[in-house]
Amino acid sequence: MSKFDLVVIGAGSGGIRCARMASRYGAKVAIIEDRYLGGTCVNVGCVPKKLYVYGSSFGDMFEDAKGYGWSATDIVFAWETLRDQKIREINRLNDIYKTILEDSDVHLVIGRGHIIDPHHVRVNDSILNTSRIVIATGGWPSKPKIPGIELAKTSNDIFDLERLPKKILVVGGGYIAIEFAGIFNALGVKTILSYRGPDILKNFDSEIVDNLLIEMEKNGVDIRFNHNLYGLIQHESGQIKLDHSDVDELLVDEVLLAIGRVPNTEGLGLENTSVTTRDNGSIEVFDHFRTCDESIFAIGDVTGTIALTPVALVEGETLARYLFNRESNISVDYSEIPTTIFSQPNIGTIGLSEEKVLELGFEADVYVSEFKPMRLSLSNRNQKNIFKLLVECNTGRVLGLHILASDAGEILQGFAVALKAGATKADFDRTIGIHPTAAEELVTMRHPTRTIGG
Ligand code: NDP
Repeated sequence: MSKFDLVVIGAGSGGIRCARMASRYGAKVAIIEDRYLGGTCVNVGCVPKKLYVYGSSFGDMFEDAKGYGWSATDIVFAWETLRDQKIREINRLNDIYKTILEDSDVHLVIGRGHIIDPHHVRVNDSILNTSRIVIATGGWPSKPKIPGIELAKTSNDIFDLERLPKKILVVGGGYIAIEFAGIFNALGVKTILSYRGPDILKNFDSEIVDNLLIEMEKNGVDIRFNHNLYGLIQHESGQIKLDHSDVDELLVDEVLLAIGRVPNTEGLGLENTSVTTRDNGSIEVFDHFRTCDESIFAIGDVTGTIALTPVALVEGETLARYLFNRESNISVDYSEIPTTIFSQPNIGTIGLSEEKVLELGFEADVYVSEFKPMRLSLSNRNQKNIFKLLVECNTGRVLGLHILASDAGEILQGFAVALKAGATKADFDRTIGIHPTAAEELVTMRHPTRTIGG
């Protein structure tokens, strides 16, 4: 029986980072994975999603190009090409991850890890003996218990559809639903976005979200609020019939459920440990990602942390440094995490929304700049950019920064460093803009649109 210093269960972003770093610090490490290397992000999340966002953006570009003197005929889109190219690219990345693990001297075990006691993990027919275990098994798309649910797809299987649907219902009002509604709509699929409540993207600045919805509707997405799905029925036409709260009869070719993710702990053997879980199934962790079981740690989505790849990466790295590099005071700073929804246009956000500023009792100046992007000035397309700053009145500290624009994610990353460093509006004002860019708006807004709170 092999004896390891560390066994990591789950080779996603957090698990791989933790395993590699631990090995670099001299630990003998094994990592267990039963599905694919790179986890959700690489295989059925961030990476393929971004490729599809790129793929779906060319239709608009062909349109814009006309205003710049280009003409092209016979523009057609082949889903099969995009899908198969994506598959090739993901296979390439999977191989790279394998090589990285080999080069890092991390022992890769293919199979499902089952903890049999706090120091032993069974995989297939072998048992790994270890001083410590890290659970990094991520999350899994949740599915409601409604009739016909097996007819619906989730983000786990939507990427590899055999053919592009003519009509799709996307259920949810979070990151995945918004991003996929944009992708399918831009690929020419008649897209209905179905959300059970009145407000999608609840934690984002509502002015930015409202304007995104306007842009999505302008692009052709049929957005239905307070829309409830009670069941799915296989129709004789081959389509899926919806049992839903609107009066119209709806038949679609595909249903994509994007209603959140649940921690992936099934079959892990937690019952053989002292590890505790919350009501939503996420693993409870305390200082330095330690669970209630002294030798077992957990990182990433399975702990109910902020479910973003860069968060899992930093948790994996931090844990490895704590355990194997004697950095006993190291911790993760979860404040001001920048995030982007790769919608069309993107939402980029860091810090407090206007609603949160009010809720927390700040008095703040709100700077808002709305304009048509220069790139579209020779195009027939009409899309609005919004750049928004929330600035605390008595300190000048920038509390929140929100962008609705193509490439908001690219713009946001640099400004996130500034906010993290505590930048004030005066720091923004004395920064010279880069002209002509969209991002220069953030350093040229001089007069607040309104003052709130206080
Ligand atoms: P989110 O948590 O973002 O959103 C879930 C949505 O589903 C909410 O609008 C929620 O509505 C709705 N919902 C929840 N339960 C039900 C139900 N039973 N029936 C109908 N609707 C329901 O989850 P996602 O699945 O979109 O994404 C999962 C996570 O992945 C995100 O939290 C994010 O952290 C990460 N992610 C990040 C991306 C990025 O960084 N660009 C991209 C994609 C995912 P309500 O508000 O009413 O509860």
